[in-house]
Amino acid sequence: MSEKVEHVTCLIIGSGPAGYTAAIYAARADLKPVLYTGMVPGGQLTETTEVDNFPGYPKGITGPELMEDLKAQAERFGTQVRFGMATKADLNASPKRIWIDETIEMTADTVIISTGASAKWLGLPNETRLRMNAGGVSACAVCDGFFYRGQDVVIVGAGDTAAEEATYLSKLCKKVYMIVRRSEMRASKAMQHRVKNTANIEILWDSETEDILGANAVEGVVVKNIKTGQLRTLDVTGFFVAIGHKPNTDIFKGQLNMDELGYIDVIGASSKTNIPGVFAVGDCADKTYRQAVTAAGSGCMGALDAERYLAASGVH
Ligand code: NDP
Repeated sequence: MSEKVEHVTCLIIGSGPAGYTAAIYAARADLKPVLYTGMVPGGQLTETTEVDNFPGYPKGITGPELMEDLKAQAERFGTQVRFGMATKADLNASPKRIWIDETIEMTADTVIISTGASAKWLGLPNETRLRMNAGGVSACAVCDGFFYRGQDVVIVGAGDTAAEEATYLSKLCKKVYMIVRRSEMRASKAMQHRVKNTANIEILWDSETEDILGANAVEGVVVKNIKTGQLRTLDVTGFFVAIGHKPNTDIFKGQLNMDELGYIDVIGASSKTNIPGVFAVGDCADKTYRQAVTAAGSGCMGALDAERYLAASGVH
């Protein structure tokens, strides 16, 4: 049951770079946006350490600091940032209806969805522990590969992302071990070809990660060949996981057009979805680039598209 119903012109769901950038633009356009953060305020970047590739920070910045800056900038222009999780949606209603934490009902003329995607992890206890301690476990080679220059690293996965990231890491690192659980890769033939022809990438077929060693940082990885049962310890300092992402779009299924993985379809080079007045920005609609700066750029597009939609429909 809803505790209360509140109507807003522009509701933004999610607090990564896409959501906050949408909020900055929407607030400056006087759409008086309300942004619900989700369970992880600041999104995926709050789980990284240094961010060296976001333009405007020549000395780098930590992920949490960057997100605090974006939040402060959104609030400076009047965005109401609220902690809460969107748990249900009726986007075909007019106005659109969104329930927060199952109790608060919001109605909105426009909804900007920036719910992001979550990296999948293996689920090993030491993976979680070292990831939380920023101890050398990462799901983003482009973000964190730089810290492992000249070192030996592991990457787990065999899809296009793993192949692309293995190639990326091979240019920075001395040696890249790629752990593949089957005797073939899912990645496209071209990507596989590139990986197989890179001298400093060693593919460990039919293999899975048994454990990650190290008290405060990665000091080694134990790999098991699942055909022979043989264990091997790799002397590495970085552990990259590239086994896929899951877009956080479950509550919109059956309403918004999505691909088979759950990424929201947008129309052409816009942020428009199949429902007028609903816009999708950032990683929930992007399985290709997934960078903070591309998410921020698409957040800007979402706010501009919302503003134009409101102007055209005479609401604002
Ligand atoms: P995918 O789902 O395509 O691949 C995931 C890989 O991780 C698979 O090889 C899978 O193994 C492996 N995996 C899954 N779970 C585990 C586990 N628990 N332990 C070990 N390995 C595991 O994800 P991607 O992120 O690679 O790609 C997502 C989509 O984005 C794809 O459609 C891809 O084509 C696309 N993409 C395109 C790019 C491009 O065109 N440049 C770049 C990056 C992505 P298995 O094969 O055995 O199931």
